[in-house]
Amino acid sequence: MKYFLFFLVSALIDLPAEINIARVESACQVPASTVMTEFTGEPGCYGIVQYTNDPDIKFTIQEGSLSIYRELPIASAYDFIPGQGNTQYTEETYDFSYKKAFRSLSGKVSKERIRNSVYYLSDDPLPRRVLNYTLPGHSLSTLAEADIWIEGRLTGAGYSPWQDETKVRAFGRDLSKPLAHQYAAPPADAPEYPAHNIIAELTGSADRENIIVVIAHKDSQSWIASPGANDNAVGTSAALELADVLKDYKPLHTIRFIFCNEEHTPWTSITAVNGIRSEGKDVLAAINLDGIGGKSAEQAGKLINITRYTTPEGERLADLNSMLNKRFSIGLEQSKFRSDSPGDDDGSFINGGFPWAVLNIGSMPYADPNYHIETDTADKVDYDTTERVVKLTLALILHLDRNGRP
Ligand SMILES: [Zn+2]
Repeated sequence: MKYFLFFLVSALIDLPAEINIARVESACQVPASTVMTEFTGEPGCYGIVQYTNDPDIKFTIQEGSLSIYRELPIASAYDFIPGQGNTQYTEETYDFSYKKAFRSLSGKVSKERIRNSVYYLSDDPLPRRVLNYTLPGHSLSTLAEADIWIEGRLTGAGYSPWQDETKVRAFGRDLSKPLAHQYAAPPADAPEYPAHNIIAELTGSADRENIIVVIAHKDSQSWIASPGANDNAVGTSAALELADVLKDYKPLHTIRFIFCNEEHTPWTSITAVNGIRSEGKDVLAAINLDGIGGKSAEQAGKLINITRYTTPEGERLADLNSMLNKRFSIGLEQSKFRSDSPGDDDGSFINGGFPWAVLNIGSMPYADPNYHIETDTADKVDYDTTERVVKLTLALILHLDRNGRP
């Protein structure tokens, strides 16, 4: 294999100190362990790598290489020779100074802890999480018991969680509809219950007024005895995992975790959104985690995440997710899906005037065969995918904290 390397005198390159640049055009064969500023090789193979003295940047390039642009710690790219080969990878320039924090914190994400949380909330000791079912011999509803456990997790991680209150009722059930969609308006005599969002946050050191929200509904289906493992013990457990790994992180913006209720009516995320508005604050971005460990039977074993968006602002967040999935080699099959109208708890933000809101979910249109039925059990949750979605969401949080909106 022939190749030619042209090293530029790095002193001649006028680079801003924090900018690291890597772009590889077309498939290339390049020598291993090469720190380079520019190279060319086979016809159609041309690339440039420029580096700063950041010791965290290691341009160790393996032979072989269509994958090298994934191996490279690419921070940013720019046009250097127009028309040379096909661009494999481009990025806008962002501040990636959070990358060390990301590597350290993502290393703390524990698939086992996530799995244990899902089993706790949807199998043993809590078979589900609703206001209209109490375990025999217990005094509190299964959802109230879940609330206590979630608060305990947050308090144990050093947070000072608080609650708001919404009067809700369990959904009625319409047996004439398909099994997955039998929720119906509550009967006239359905009792009202106080339901609570559990909210915890890390206060921003520079900007407390623009909040990064991670939201997940913690309740299970109130009209059917489903464990609600993938809907949504898994999103709850993922949000708890993020709170755990971020507990010592010092953010610039306030990062708020909201554990809400969406399987009783009305949805308590509306109360949480109203609360943010009455505080006079803005939502920099809201990331809803719901059903991230489920997908169709044909997609089993695939590491799929869909970022569902409704607004142009949400699409920018979805595109940012795709970039971060590549940038940090998270390994998800990441894609985006546009919805015509706001839905779910991210929709509560959009309807409430905060358009930077998206949903991470395992399939869209939703294809989990266990959706909203009794077989939505903890053993069916895809924990490999879930772990990666937690890491992707962590990257998104850190990126937004450093860079603001994309
Ligand atoms: Zn759900």
